[in-house]
Amino acid sequence: MKKAKDIINTTNLTRMVMALAVLLSLVAIFLVATHRTPSAMRRANECKSVVMVASGDTLSKLLLEQGLSHNDVNTIAKVLKSDAEISTLRADRDKLEFVRENDDAPVTKIVVIPSPWRQVELTCNDEGAWDCKTVDIERDVRATYRSGEILDGDSFYLAGQRAGIPAGILADVYDLLAFEMDFERDVRAGQKFSVLYEENFSEGEKIDNGRVLAVAFEALRGNVKMYRFRKSDGTTGYYDEDGNGAIKSLKRTPINNAKVTSSFSNKRKHPVLGYTRAHKGVDFRASTGTPIPAAGAGRVVARSYNRGHGNYVKIRHNGSYETLYAHMSKFAKGVNVGTTVRQGQTIGYVGSTGISTGPHLHYEIIKDGKHVNPMTVKLPAISNLDKADKKKFVEYRKILDEGIEKLSENPSLFIQL
Ligand SMILES: [Zn+2]
Repeated sequence: MKKAKDIINTTNLTRMVMALAVLLSLVAIFLVATHRTPSAMRRANECKSVVMVASGDTLSKLLLEQGLSHNDVNTIAKVLKSDAEISTLRADRDKLEFVRENDDAPVTKIVVIPSPWRQVELTCNDEGAWDCKTVDIERDVRATYRSGEILDGDSFYLAGQRAGIPAGILADVYDLLAFEMDFERDVRAGQKFSVLYEENFSEGEKIDNGRVLAVAFEALRGNVKMYRFRKSDGTTGYYDEDGNGAIKSLKRTPINNAKVTSSFSNKRKHPVLGYTRAHKGVDFRASTGTPIPAAGAGRVVARSYNRGHGNYVKIRHNGSYETLYAHMSKFAKGVNVGTTVRQGQTIGYVGSTGISTGPHLHYEIIKDGKHVNPMTVKLPAISNLDKADKKKFVEYRKILDEGIEKLSENPSLFIQL
């Protein structure tokens, strides 16, 4: 069984550092994808049919449709559960492949394909019993580099799309940068950014994207750089150039890509009330019904209504922080006082309840009982590196930076991991 290579696995770190160094010294960066011929040779008359699981499909329904007996169906369901931990099929995700000796022969092999990287093969043996074998598909991982520049009137999303960064990767990058940047005030025309991310190939064909390996953004308040790194204890995280944890316990902007319509201030003229009073949070414009994710992990301490905030939720986080989300149209199901929430979990939906001029999220961060500006407050990191890991990280980062440098000179290249 072969598993995906993980370039930031610490056990692989030294080997990887060596490999990268060798690769770079040889400029062993490949120009074109190599195409391999499929390794499995098919038997001449063998007949295969592939079925994508649709909504309402069950394993027994699909197997009976292929002419399998009720007896076989029961056996197969049992074997799948005990040997492959598969008890239900997922619509639009799982695929089944049925193999027959020829068109009219009964099914002798069934391949359940829950992901491009895993196949469960069920083979009918001579005694009529079904053998089950899980095969991990070997993944060929390449690090790909994309860079772009913010143009006049651009959002980071638009610039990222133009740079050819795939949507899923772009969303991950946005999530990462949101810990460090205020997209409203830190993004200006002329700023450059880059991303190094994994692309997964199988037999020369691109299957999907992997993880973000490194991000750089020339923000107004200083360059932001983040690197993915696996610590000795096996956990992975993102760290800045100096090895400080980049993932913070709270997010500055809970809703990605939402425009700030009113900033934190100790004095402002209230748009509805008309008189000057402090604005103790930040307002993000978003349409009614937009999910509001929890800015950090914590416990819900208030889920209520008042005249000013309308429907609001308050979360107490570990340490000395609380966050508050106001003007919700409705609360998320299952979110009550006492509920434990994780970072990013939807707690409610944008609305305009309470004193509000239109649908928006009013977001507050309260530190030790005092309101602070979410855009500028220094937020604590979730995980930091100890001395030994920091040393490894610095070594790893230097080599990764060299690779990025090479790729920036020729973005059509990639690094074979
Ligand atoms: Zn507000």
